[in-house]
Amino acid sequence: MSTGTRVSPSTRFFLQVRLSVLFIFAVLFLPNGAQADEQVMVRAGLVSGISTPASITITAASPFQVTDPSSNDPVASVEGKSLLLNANNGKIDVSIDGTPSGTFTGPLRIASPVNSCIFQLAASNGRKGRYRGIIEIRGGARLFAVNELELEDYIRGVVPIEVPRMFQPEAQKALAIAARTYALRSMGRHASDGYNLCDNTNCQCFSGANRDADWVNKLIDETRGQVITYDNNPIAACYSTDCGGSTLNNEDAGFGKSPWPYLRAVSDAVGDGQDYCSASPHHSWTKTFTLDELNTRLLKTAKVGKVQEVSVAEFDSGGHAKTVIVKGDAGEYRTTGNRFREAVGLSVIKGTKFTITPIDAGYRFDGRGYGHAVGLCAFGANGMAKAGKSCADILKHYYTGIEIKQVSDINLRLSLKR
Ligand SMILES: [Zn+2]
Ligand SMILES: [Zn+2]
Repeated sequence: MSTGTRVSPSTRFFLQVRLSVLFIFAVLFLPNGAQADEQVMVRAGLVSGISTPASITITAASPFQVTDPSSNDPVASVEGKSLLLNANNGKIDVSIDGTPSGTFTGPLRIASPVNSCIFQLAASNGRKGRYRGIIEIRGGARLFAVNELELEDYIRGVVPIEVPRMFQPEAQKALAIAARTYALRSMGRHASDGYNLCDNTNCQCFSGANRDADWVNKLIDETRGQVITYDNNPIAACYSTDCGGSTLNNEDAGFGKSPWPYLRAVSDAVGDGQDYCSASPHHSWTKTFTLDELNTRLLKTAKVGKVQEVSVAEFDSGGHAKTVIVKGDAGEYRTTGNRFREAVGLSVIKGTKFTITPIDAGYRFDGRGYGHAVGLCAFGANGMAKAGKSCADILKHYYTGIEIKQVSDINLRLSLKR
């Protein structure tokens, strides 16, 4: 599922919510709200940014220390030199500017007393990146890096990838708050891997300090600590690119069987046949398939033998395909429009609001929107902002009955899978 590269936003959003519905609430991460001055730390596994190289070189403009947390012993102090870490049969060889400092079990922690320090990592596999906070390097057959940093600095590395630069400020704020909420909600995703979130589309794309920009800093300052809550808990803040004119109930997309109170279908219509998301380039689309093409694409998922017929059996009130039926010579497969997209291809059946028309050569799909259509509609948020709506208006439109709170004021019932 992790591709290590960016995929279309709608694909990422789909991945987000699909994993969010696993509902693992095993451990309370922080009891009944963090203290106002208490910082939430995020451990991001650099699965894609650095991956698993044989060696990593680390440099920084500020002095920094390497420690072995198991013994708390200082391993090395580095200033104006380059630290080279090499995987060595499960252990880590450390050298500074070519002079060996020893071999350690690790994981090693690399930290600077200078708060603004940015580490530059260059790996032997060609990956490189700039990161704030603390770097943890684990040994093994190869090395693995974890970046530990404050929540706001983590969001600073997410926003440049997840929030469109050209969107209206109030829409950008709504998306930044959704990204922060998603991170808090998902802190247990990789607990068994020893970190909270990975850095690719499996969780949220995280770019460290590689894409620092003034507009990102401004957005972080304007939304600092804000979280979307329901019953004082961070919500599963799923969103998609373009809802097609109305959003979809979570259960009608196949995201959980029971309705979630804040993921209800809402209309994006503004009258005269226009929607808040009408400016989206995906707002209307058509795709045709031959029966053979559908057969190939549905083979693994539908398991109905040779596909003979596809049809929408049920629409929701907004016109989304709620139930799709695939008939074959060896059975019948019923699924949601969204799961059908997943089976055929998320970029070819762009959205869940579609009709299916038999044509001579096969079937024609006429659709609207891009993505699963559950939760916030990104282009709709931008249209609302253009119409003068605030960030809070936008979030309350797409997430029913929510409140926007400060992270320090909420019940951080974060899931840690153990
Ligand atoms: Zn992940
Ligand atoms: Zn929309």
